[in-house]
Amino acid sequence: MAAARKPVVEVRRSERRRRTVSAYRDGERVVVLIPGQFSRAEEREWVDRMLERLAARDERSRRTDTELTSRAHRLAERYLAEHPAASRPASVSWVSNQNSRWGSCTPTDRTIRISDRIMDMPDWVIDYVLLHELVHLVVPSHSARFWALVGRYPRAERARGYLEGISAAGGHAFHED
Ligand SMILES: [Zn+2]
Repeated sequence: MAAARKPVVEVRRSERRRRTVSAYRDGERVVVLIPGQFSRAEEREWVDRMLERLAARDERSRRTDTELTSRAHRLAERYLAEHPAASRPASVSWVSNQNSRWGSCTPTDRTIRISDRIMDMPDWVIDYVLLHELVHLVVPSHSARFWALVGRYPRAERARGYLEGISAAGGHAFHED
């Protein structure tokens, strides 16, 4: 699994805090609130601990097949509303045995598989891969009609560039399918 980028952390000390430590996201940053009397060592230890907790929470909330399926439904509703076929995949699931493709779709049984190699990527990249596979439920081939539908997703080109960049950097033959 690719290591997630370390977020920018802002530590805020509060004299009013005695023991409690809390953390929350603020855009790209993570704000960690600690008691004013913490030593530097305690600060480092708690920042690491809170980052781990936040990461685990993110993982739980987005890495399940259920979440992936509801994400697919939202995308189909938003971008492919007039194509009911796209809103009815039989299944959408994360797979770990798909090494050369980000995602795949079998239009005959209407199943979609998404490689867990993209789990750590930004949501807008995951959305692109999902939408790409959903469009295959409507247009199986990579025809002009296919790309016109995919192009409804505003960040489609950016996401393709992102994925190409990763393929190039990793030296893998990853591709869209
Ligand atoms: Zn494709």
